[in-house]
Amino acid sequence: MKRFSLLLVLPLVVLMACSAFAASLTPTPDLWALAQRHRAVHRFSTLFTAQNVREYFSSEAGLSQAIDWCKRTAVTKVYIEEFRGSYTADRATLVKARDAFGAAGIETSGCITTTRVGKDSTGWKEIACYTDPQTQEKLKSVFEYAAGLFDEIMIDDFWFTDCECPECKAARAARVVTIGGARYPVAGDTWEDYRCELMVQLSRHYILEAARKVNPKVKIIIKYPQWYDAFHERGYDVARESADFDRIWVGTETRDYTNKQWGGTVQFEGFFIMRWLGGLGGAKCGGGWFDPYGTSPATYLEQARQTVLAGARESMLFCYGSLRNDNGPKNIEALRANIPELFAVAGEVARRRPAGIAAYKPASSHPENEKVVFDFVGMLGLPLLPCHEFPATAPAAFFSVHALKDPDFAVKLKAFMKAGKPVLLTDGLVKALGDKVDLKSSGAHTLAVQGEPKSLLKLSQAELDPLRAEMLKPLRVKFKAPNKTGLYLFSDGSRVVENFNDEPIEVQFNGKSETIPARGWATHWK
Ligand SMILES: [Zn+2]
Repeated sequence: MKRFSLLLVLPLVVLMACSAFAASLTPTPDLWALAQRHRAVHRFSTLFTAQNVREYFSSEAGLSQAIDWCKRTAVTKVYIEEFRGSYTADRATLVKARDAFGAAGIETSGCITTTRVGKDSTGWKEIACYTDPQTQEKLKSVFEYAAGLFDEIMIDDFWFTDCECPECKAARAARVVTIGGARYPVAGDTWEDYRCELMVQLSRHYILEAARKVNPKVKIIIKYPQWYDAFHERGYDVARESADFDRIWVGTETRDYTNKQWGGTVQFEGFFIMRWLGGLGGAKCGGGWFDPYGTSPATYLEQARQTVLAGARESMLFCYGSLRNDNGPKNIEALRANIPELFAVAGEVARRRPAGIAAYKPASSHPENEKVVFDFVGMLGLPLLPCHEFPATAPAAFFSVHALKDPDFAVKLKAFMKAGKPVLLTDGLVKALGDKVDLKSSGAHTLAVQGEPKSLLKLSQAELDPLRAEMLKPLRVKFKAPNKTGLYLFSDGSRVVENFNDEPIEVQFNGKSETIPARGWATHWK
C-alpha cells in the first residue's frame, strides 16, 4: 500500500496544477463570486453519495476536481454521504473530504440513504422491513456513525417501508410498534396507520435521539420524496415528522413528462410540492432537490425554475456522480448559463408574498382517483397557492377529493361560498359532497376531471379563458393563455408567466399582450 501511495505523489502534483489552471479559465460571470453574494437568499448544493465518496475522494485529484466543479457551478454547500445501499463510506475518506471542502469555503453536511439497511421488504427490494429488530439496530448504528462526523445530516427520500412480511402483518394486527423492547400503540388497523407509527417512532428514538446522544449539536433533515399523494401509504407522516425533525427538504424532481422511463409528472408539481411542504414545515423548510434523470436541458432548467419560484432557499443538485455522466454535463451547462437569472428571481421571490387561488391538500389526505390533480390544474394558467389548512381567508379556492380528509370541510366550504368567493371543485368532490352543500351558487364551478387528471391537459384555450376570468375576479386579474402555461402571482402585483409548450405562446395579462418563448418564462417585478 505504501509503495502505491508514493507512486501517486507525482501525478497528483501535476493534476493539482491542471486543476488550478482550469480554475483560471473560469468563464464570466464568476459564478463562485456570485454565489457568495446570494448565499443569504439562495444557494446551490450537491450531494456525493457514499459510492461517489469512494470513487472520487479516494484520490487528492478526484477531491480537488470536485471542489473545482462546485466552484464553477455556484455550489456553496455539499452533502457527503455516509451510507447508501448497504455500503458504508470509509471514515478517514469522509473526514478528509469534509475538511477539504471546509477549507475551500464550501459548507458540509452528512447524508444517509436508507436503502438495503437490513432485512429486505417484501415489496421494493431497496427498502427494508423496519419491524425487524436487527434492521432497527443497524439503522440506529448508521445514524450514530454519521452524527460522529457531521453537525447536519440529510436523509434521502427512501425513509419509508412497504413491507408486508408475516412479522409486519402480525404487528399491524396487534396494533403495536415495538422498538428496542419499548411498545407504542397504533391508532388504527390499516397499513397506513401501522407504517406511519413505525416510521414516526423509529425517527424519534433510533434517528433523532440516537444521533443527538452522539452529537448534541446535530440537526437532522428529512427530505420528502416528490410523490406527495402517496406519502401516508408508505409511512411518511408529514405532519408529525415535520414537527419532529429539525429541518425538511423537498423533492422537486419532475423530470420530463414525456420520458418513457421517468415521465408522467408535469412541471407545476415542483412548485406545488415545494410551497405545500413549505407551508407545513415553515422556517424548517430549507430547500428543494432535483436530479438529471430523464431530463433534457429544458426540463432540467424547468425543475430549477419551479423550485426557485416556490421560494426554496436552496437547490440541491442530485448528485455529483450523475451530473458528471450521461446527460448530466449538458444539463449543468444549461444551468450554469441560467444561474445569474435564477439567483435574481430567488431574490425577488424572497422579498414578496405569493398570491393566488388557494389549493387545499390536508396532510395525509387521500387522492382517490384524483391523484396529483393539483399539478395538472396548475398547468392550466390558474395560479394555485398550495395550503395544508382550510384557506378561510383566501380570495378564491380550488378543492378536490383531498379536502374530504378535513372532517369539517362541508361546513367550512359553505361559509367560504357564503362570502361570495369563487370556488372550483372537481367533479369527484361534487359527487362525494352530494346534497351536503348547495352548489347552485354562481361562484361554484365544476372541473370535469373524470377520474383522469392528465386529461385536463387537453382543455382548449376557449374552455380555459372563461374559467380563469371567473376564478381570478377577486384577484383583479384577467389572464388569457393556452394550456400548459404557469401563472405565479405576488401580493404586490408582480407576476411570472412560464410557458411549458414547445412553441412560443401569446398571453394576455389585464389586456396587455406578451409573447413568451418556447419553454421560457417572463418575469414582471413591481
Ligand atoms: Zn416486514
